[in-house]
Amino acid sequence: MNIFLTIDDAPSKHMKKKVDFLSARKIPAVFFCRGEFMPRHEEFVIEAIQKGFLIGNHSFTHHYFSEIPLEQCFDEILKTEKLIEACYEKANSQRPSKAFRFPFGDRGGKEKGLNVERDKVQKLQNFLKELGFEPLDFNPKTPDKFIDALWDWDTEDYKENLIKNPDEYQKKLEEFWEKSKDKTHVLLHHDFDHTHHLFEITMNFLFEKRVQFLPIKAKKT
Ligand SMILES: [Zn+2]
Repeated sequence: MNIFLTIDDAPSKHMKKKVDFLSARKIPAVFFCRGEFMPRHEEFVIEAIQKGFLIGNHSFTHHYFSEIPLEQCFDEILKTEKLIEACYEKANSQRPSKAFRFPFGDRGGKEKGLNVERDKVQKLQNFLKELGFEPLDFNPKTPDKFIDALWDWDTEDYKENLIKNPDEYQKKLEEFWEKSKDKTHVLLHHDFDHTHHLFEITMNFLFEKRVQFLPIKAKKT
């Protein structure tokens, strides 16, 4: 199996542990950061940049974009952009590419049947494009017209029953592996304060299976 490793909702107090672990093993990853968390652990984001990880934008307060007005969506993106740019500057590093992931993968068009909502999806894509965002070179279930990055292996490491029951979590990893081991996947993990133990389980599991971790790059156009 080949894996693109994507880690959402960073930075947490455990981000440094993740960065050190991945960097020691030369595993590439993108950390999609939430602006509201960045001031508290800015130094971890800077260190991640210096160690070659890509920092992506994951909005500021993690609303469903379908549920907030367009102007507020723009603001969510811009506020986090400012913080990310500042981190690249402090890291003295050029940002290799701008990647975006919508909170919950919600592109702003979940209220079906309304033209105005479809219009909102397009306006958000246009906005990202104007800001210089680019699609990453993995593209599961995602037509090329979309700039934001989706995933196709959700570890569900945010689910209460799995957080409390690591054996059950491990079993789910096994099940996914069995049905999908010959494929390439974009794996979704999280960087929450209370789920780091599941990250360790996942990484040990993937090592044991000798998966190949692929570099995270912008798609060549
Ligand atoms: Zn998220």
